[in-house]
Amino acid sequence: MTLRALALAAAFSFISAAHAQEAPEVETTDLGDGVYMLATHVAGNVAVITGEDGVWMIDTQMAHIAPALDEAQKAVSGGAEVRLVLNTHLHGDHVLGNEYFAERGALIMAHTSVRDRLKNPSANAVTGATPEPLSGGFLPVIGIPGGGEIILNGHTARIHHTPDAHTDGDLWVHFEEADVIHAGDLLFSGMYPFIDLDNGGTVDGMIAGMQAIAGAAGPDTRIIPGHGPLSAREDVLASIAMLTAARDAVAELAAQGLSLDEVQAANPLAPFHDEWNWRFITSERMTATLYRDATR
Ligand SMILES: [Zn+2]
Ligand SMILES: [Zn+2]
Repeated sequence: MTLRALALAAAFSFISAAHAQEAPEVETTDLGDGVYMLATHVAGNVAVITGEDGVWMIDTQMAHIAPALDEAQKAVSGGAEVRLVLNTHLHGDHVLGNEYFAERGALIMAHTSVRDRLKNPSANAVTGATPEPLSGGFLPVIGIPGGGEIILNGHTARIHHTPDAHTDGDLWVHFEEADVIHAGDLLFSGMYPFIDLDNGGTVDGMIAGMQAIAGAAGPDTRIIPGHGPLSAREDVLASIAMLTAARDAVAELAAQGLSLDEVQAANPLAPFHDEWNWRFITSERMTATLYRDATR
C-alpha cells in the first residue's frame, strides 16, 4: 500500500467513525401493570406491554437504536422477545427499527395505508431528505383499517384511527384498565406539531385527533406523546388551544389575500413562539404549514 493509499484509508476510517451513529441511552418509565414508556428523545416514544402472552411494542424508533430498545424491554420483561409491534404511523423515527424485531419473530401491524406508503414513499415519508422505499421486515404484515380491540396480557387495548391528522394513517391506543394512552404523533407535547400535508395530514384532522384523545382521557390518564415528556389530558388541551388559535390567526391573514411572505412578515405566531417553538418545527415552519393548509 502506498503512503497516499494509507493516508486515504486513515482519513476514511476517521470519517466513518465520525459518522457512525451511536445509540442514545434509553430511559424507561414504569407506568404500572406491566406497561412501560421507553424514551430516547431522538425518535418517537415507545410503549412496551409485558406479560405472560408476550411483549407488545408500540413503535420501534430507528435501526441503530433498536438493539438498545430491545435491551431495555428485556430488562423489564424477563428477557422475552418482542412478539407484536404496532406502528402508530409511517414516519421513519417510528418504523425503522421494525426489521430488527421482525427478524426476531415479531409481527408488525399498522394502519392499512402504511405498508403501501412505505413501499412507495412520497416526499418525506420516512425520516431524511431522500426517502428510500422499504421492503421485507420493515413492512407491516397486519393492516388495521379503522380501529379495533386487542386483549393481551390482561389489558384491553382499544385502537383508534384518526383520519387525515398528522398523516392519513395515524393509530392511537388506549389501555383502558392501566389508564394509559399512546398518542403517536397526534401529540407533540409542549411543542409545535409536525403535520405531514404530503402524506394526508390536515390541520383540522390533527385538532380532531387531539380532541378524540382528550375525550377518551380522564384527569389521571398518562399519555405517551409521539414526542415530548409523559403527558396528561391538560397537555393535550393546551396543544389543541394553541393549534386552534394559530390556525385561525394564519387563516385570517390568508383570507385577506396575503402571500406567504407577507404572512411570515406579519408574524402571527409571535404569541406562541416562546412556549412552542423548537428545533424541527419553528414558528416560521408552523406558519408555512398553516398557510398551505388554509390555501389549498
Ligand atoms: Zn415522530
Ligand atoms: Zn410522525
